[in-house]
Amino acid sequence: MRSRLPLTVLAFVSALSSACPSPAADALPPVPASSEHLADALAPADEAAARSAWRGMNEFDQPGVARAGERNVLRLPCRFAGTTTERASYDYARKLDINGCRGIEFQFHSRDCSSISSFSVYFRSGQGWYHGHFFPDRQNAWSTVRIDKHATRTEGTPSGWGNVDLIRVSAWRGRDADTEFCLADLRLVGADAPIAIIRGEALAERDPGEAKAAAHFAEIMDRQVTRLGLDCISLSDTALDAAALANRKLVILPLNGHLPDASAAALRSYLAGGGKMLAFYNLSGELARAAGIEGGPHVRQKAPGDFASIRPSDTPLPGLPAQTAQASWNIHAAKPVEGKSRIAAYWYNAAGQSTGHAALIASDNCVFMTHVLLDDGPPNKQQMLLAMIASLRPDLPAGAIERQIAQAGQIAGAKDLDDLARTLREQKASDAAQVELKRAGEQVQAARQHLKSKQWAQAMDAVAAARGHALRAWCMAQQPQANEHRAFWCHSAFGVKDMTWEEVARKLADNGFTAVIPNMLWGGSAYYKSDVLPVRPEVAERGDQVALAAAACRKAGIACHVWKVNFNCGHKAPPEFLSKLRAEGRVQIDQAGKEIEGPWLCPSDPANRKLEIDAMVELARKYDIDGVHFDYIRYPGRQGCYCEGCRKRFEQAAGPAVKNWPGDLRRDKELEQKWLQWRRDNITAVVAGTAEILRKEKPKVKISAAVFSNYAVDRDTVGQDWKLWCERGWVDFVCPMDYTANDGHFETLVGQQKQWAGKVPCYPGIGLSCWGEKDVCNVASKIAIARRLKTGGFTIFNLGPMEANEILPLLGLGITRP
Ligand SMILES: [Zn+2]
Repeated sequence: MRSRLPLTVLAFVSALSSACPSPAADALPPVPASSEHLADALAPADEAAARSAWRGMNEFDQPGVARAGERNVLRLPCRFAGTTTERASYDYARKLDINGCRGIEFQFHSRDCSSISSFSVYFRSGQGWYHGHFFPDRQNAWSTVRIDKHATRTEGTPSGWGNVDLIRVSAWRGRDADTEFCLADLRLVGADAPIAIIRGEALAERDPGEAKAAAHFAEIMDRQVTRLGLDCISLSDTALDAAALANRKLVILPLNGHLPDASAAALRSYLAGGGKMLAFYNLSGELARAAGIEGGPHVRQKAPGDFASIRPSDTPLPGLPAQTAQASWNIHAAKPVEGKSRIAAYWYNAAGQSTGHAALIASDNCVFMTHVLLDDGPPNKQQMLLAMIASLRPDLPAGAIERQIAQAGQIAGAKDLDDLARTLREQKASDAAQVELKRAGEQVQAARQHLKSKQWAQAMDAVAAARGHALRAWCMAQQPQANEHRAFWCHSAFGVKDMTWEEVARKLADNGFTAVIPNMLWGGSAYYKSDVLPVRPEVAERGDQVALAAAACRKAGIACHVWKVNFNCGHKAPPEFLSKLRAEGRVQIDQAGKEIEGPWLCPSDPANRKLEIDAMVELARKYDIDGVHFDYIRYPGRQGCYCEGCRKRFEQAAGPAVKNWPGDLRRDKELEQKWLQWRRDNITAVVAGTAEILRKEKPKVKISAAVFSNYAVDRDTVGQDWKLWCERGWVDFVCPMDYTANDGHFETLVGQQKQWAGKVPCYPGIGLSCWGEKDVCNVASKIAIARRLKTGGFTIFNLGPMEANEILPLLGLGITRP
């Protein structure tokens, strides 16, 4: 009963009940009740027990105990005042089998996280780690933190979730102030999920790039299955066994290029015992035989559009959409086995002709798709996936769709459609919003009817329509704020696909946006008629993009701040330009003497700095633009730059020769500080040099920068001294890239950044396009936080087709209404 109450209520109730008799001064509210937990190390008997279980990374990281209600909880201090440590970090050595569940959960409490930039949880397994991030939703109250396995990244070569032998919790430095946090009730969650997604980790050692892709597609699959309303867990393909697969209704192989023999054998036994499998892209050998499908050769597209959509054959899966768009670039041309399987759908090209290649092959125990499932083309993609699942497990869709119906009104924290209606009435939502709500209700009724007659696809269409109406109603009820800087970064120099710059600028203005920041130049390429940088060939065909964007913005009445990727040459610089740079020793070199991938211009090289400044100044001189915008105005990381030129120039600047280059730069603490300051100065020189010219020549042109979120640490790691740029007035606004989807984290970051920026406006970057769920309500709640913190504006990443066509119009209905 108690555990159903929201945590905030629990915290309130417990605060009342613990008010008398008075608790110890540092006592915390009781930990919310939860089911059993597995690590008593989070409830140490005393300080000695805490210290024997948990080991700090720094000698001053000493774990302790706090009292929470009637219990002890683990207390982990973070010593950031007067230290230079990047993080407070604690290790707990314990063998743990996390294989058969979705992830872990624990309770978290901190009175004040404002000196912490983010948290990490690491799981050590074999020769590698799984790494997850979190930030609590609330401060000064207990909150539940969930780390899902599928959302973790691997580092090194971990040997499966069954072999975890150490948990590490790290709090990353945000600013120089001490704090502490408490943990309780570590437990495993989701063990009973009916669907297991097999993550391709076996590749990590031989092909890290492919392993990254495997993790990516496993995550997409998790998201798609969860959106359908089905529970799933993630299992590593390094250590599949009968126990992990037992009782699963379905296993999904999203991209598993190298299944270890033992894991393939476990899957075969699972199929032999009545198990069912969805497999994507890779299926061969014994496992293909067990699935009744014949693997096939790799077929690459000859031109984009060769594989454009999936359409049913004359023996399709029930409920398969008539056409599901997916722009694939290659397939494995698998074939059915007579008497065992059939082609259920074919690939069609962009001209609408069948390619003759199978897209879906179905047997009794398996549906195989000849490419991976991409995260595009909703809502048909969802219906196709459900049809694939339903053909193997007809009992799964009904429950999934019921859950979708229940979720249709769950918008911005509302429990259901009725709750949403109540909230909107309180906000005195307009008649138009009420009409949208009514339509949402009608579509929910329609979905229920379709569900009764088992018409899954129609039911899903109705749910999607219901959700669309409910979302519009909520968006209409949001209120704009006057005089706000509202900008979108636009990563393409050509604006948005299938739109002209005039259409892009008009659409932004129509939805209340005041500025766009289009990416027009890099370290070694320009999408305009530059006299300084190599000009991209597209400029001859499609025109000078700065001129087009600037004119379009002027016409629509919005500002155009031209964005340069500094130092990083990307893949668009001409080879002869790069060879010349290399010959002149102008690209960044790491500690091992290797060129850093990019390549990146070395910022201590005077010729490179001149190139960067000249390009920024050229924009302001030639075009009628509102501003120039720095990005990548930093080093790539700690690894840059150790080239010969840097050695010479640093020794000149810092004094005597560095005996052991570059080792001494880290070993000698005094020298290290000089080195870090020198790196900052190199980057700053480009900002200051640009400002010096533009303030004189073009005082109305604004100078701005996209900056890393955690200045306190990033000033050392990437040499980005943006607090100084603000203090000296070299920039007119900064856009810290606060791409977290978590509100609490965003608020903490922006709160800190406002202080670093001082009098210079800080328009925080909202990372919409980086989020797994590209949710307009989440954008709106970030905007609300920016308003609460009085930033005066915000900047959203990134204006692509989805953002321009789906999110922007929803924002324009309310929160950015012009
Ligand atoms: Zn260098």
